[in-house]
Amino acid sequence: MSSHSANDLWHGATRVVRAGLPDKQAGTPYLPGPVFAAPYHAPGDPSLSAYTYGRFHNPSWTHYEAALAELEGGPCLLFPSGMAATAAVLATMATPGSTVVMPSDSYYTTRVIATQEFDGAWFAAQHITVVQAPSRGDALLRALDEHADRGVSLLWLESPTNPALDVCDIAQLSARAHEIGALVAVDNTTVTPLLQQPLALGADLCVVSDTKAMTGHADLVLGHVAARDPALIERLRLWRTRMGVIAGPMEAWLAHRSLATLHVRLMQQCRSAMAVAEFLAQCDGVRGVRYPGLPGDPSHAVATKQMRAYGGVLSFELASAAAVERFFAKSQLIYEATSFGGVHTSAERRARWGGDVVPEGFVRMSIGLEDVDDLMADIAAALT
Ligand code: PLP
Repeated sequence: MSSHSANDLWHGATRVVRAGLPDKQAGTPYLPGPVFAAPYHAPGDPSLSAYTYGRFHNPSWTHYEAALAELEGGPCLLFPSGMAATAAVLATMATPGSTVVMPSDSYYTTRVIATQEFDGAWFAAQHITVVQAPSRGDALLRALDEHADRGVSLLWLESPTNPALDVCDIAQLSARAHEIGALVAVDNTTVTPLLQQPLALGADLCVVSDTKAMTGHADLVLGHVAARDPALIERLRLWRTRMGVIAGPMEAWLAHRSLATLHVRLMQQCRSAMAVAEFLAQCDGVRGVRYPGLPGDPSHAVATKQMRAYGGVLSFELASAAAVERFFAKSQLIYEATSFGGVHTSAERRARWGGDVVPEGFVRMSIGLEDVDDLMADIAAALT
């Protein structure tokens, strides 16, 4: 990898453009193209070949993982989706007979796999209990204390949460979790390592769905895990190799290519999201606007302490499900779609899926790269 790759003094914009690129060599591309291979030439002792078999390793993963490691501040592993990354952490880090503490308001599917897939069979067989508590306030801290005697092996956090955008104090919770011997994993999907660095804040593991802002063009499904301790990454690597939960080389390469624009995309999304949040807060018929950047938002103080900017996702409420449907029908710019972090502004009425404790008229909106004046004009027209 580039000799500059470990340059801690580089700003985020420089890092994302150069992260993971190989050393300059005449006649080679900046970022080598995707490598499609199942077996590689590997005579004799396999440990002498850098690559042997496609389920074990791939040069396109290596480049993207090196880039992610530079951004995360710790070694990193690529997975075929955010949920594959999440499942790998839950499966490998929770120890038999222990408790896993997690937010009751984290991403819906994370709660589903913890409480139905794992708790239903896997965790039950190993006598692992899942305890949930809200991200807001000190409920997670209290849950840690209440279950400390039984042994908490893993504290799972998500901040800001999807979709409520509540923020928890990662440094404080990590310190308490470590006192009682628990590992801490943070789902950092909503803001990415560019805006918040869970490992530097004290977490052991950082999990991200690269499907969202990391890749940002609404055309990839990927995820990754970073860790402070390389031994944890080796545990996860065994899981990935044995279970075969691997990303395609084309996806890894496309993700790496998309990374170069992460800073410009995200910063513009942050600026526009702030403007749209302020605008929505003044609109008739709109209530409960949530954006961690708003000074009056319940998440603002902690977000300001631990995040570099507030992200591109916000939420608000309209009077009813029907009011939201009318809003979407009138808007010309807002795609009605799930997911977030992409270059196209999109939104959805979250209650349509079930699973989240949100009002019928609750809307999660992801701000894209359209001109913010056009967006606000479109929103104003759609609200009338
Ligand atoms: N974590 C969060 C916060 C998410 O919002 C999502 C997906 O929406 C995931 C994890 C799962 O990611 P993926 O859809 O890439 O599996």
